[in-house]
Amino acid sequence: MTELEVLNQQLLDYFSGVERVFSEQQKTLNLACLSGCGSCCLNPDVTATLLEMIPIAIHLFQQGQAEQIYKALSETSQKNCFFYAPESKDGEQGRCSIYFHRPLLCRIFGAFPRRDKWNNNELSVCKKIKQERTIAYEVAINNLRNFSFDELAWAHTWKLKVMNLRPDIGTEEFPINFATIQAITFTALYYRV
Ligand code: SF4
Ligand code: SF4
Repeated sequence: MTELEVLNQQLLDYFSGVERVFSEQQKTLNLACLSGCGSCCLNPDVTATLLEMIPIAIHLFQQGQAEQIYKALSETSQKNCFFYAPESKDGEQGRCSIYFHRPLLCRIFGAFPRRDKWNNNELSVCKKIKQERTIAYEVAINNLRNFSFDELAWAHTWKLKVMNLRPDIGTEEFPINFATIQAITFTALYYRV
């Protein structure tokens, strides 16, 4: 395996670990995403590191689509994620067209615990889930106090694990479309194009 292939495999392994742990936790808290919802993919503030976008960049090269997507990304004025495929008029329903290769944040968002400034457990929950699952949200907030640090999955812990694979390209966050452009450029060096 080349250095890039090893890195890709490590990233995909971490990504599937993140997905498993956070989706189980969201089910335990009864705060899984709403069916068919893609509202957060409309948000122009979704960010990723170059490192996190390497798996999709490699996939695009393997599919012979890297150049085409690079051009489209360079020319688009679209602020939200280029890979979002809306399926309703208002765009709130939709799907991720790079689901298997999507970056870290996209495997966490919805509901996840974090620490407040007093070091107490708190829950970050998207507006949609809060509105639609008000009771489950309130129950989860109360239950959260009963969990110890080790019983919960923390976004920052996983973020750090992924970042430490390559801190030089895994630290700085960019708007997701720009992070993809950078990852394609980075990956192209390995493909010698
Ligand atoms: S990568 Fe997929 S899940 Fe993440 S913002 Fe883009 S469309 Fe949404
Ligand atoms: S995190 Fe919230 S807005 Fe995003 S897909 Fe899940 S339910 Fe929808």
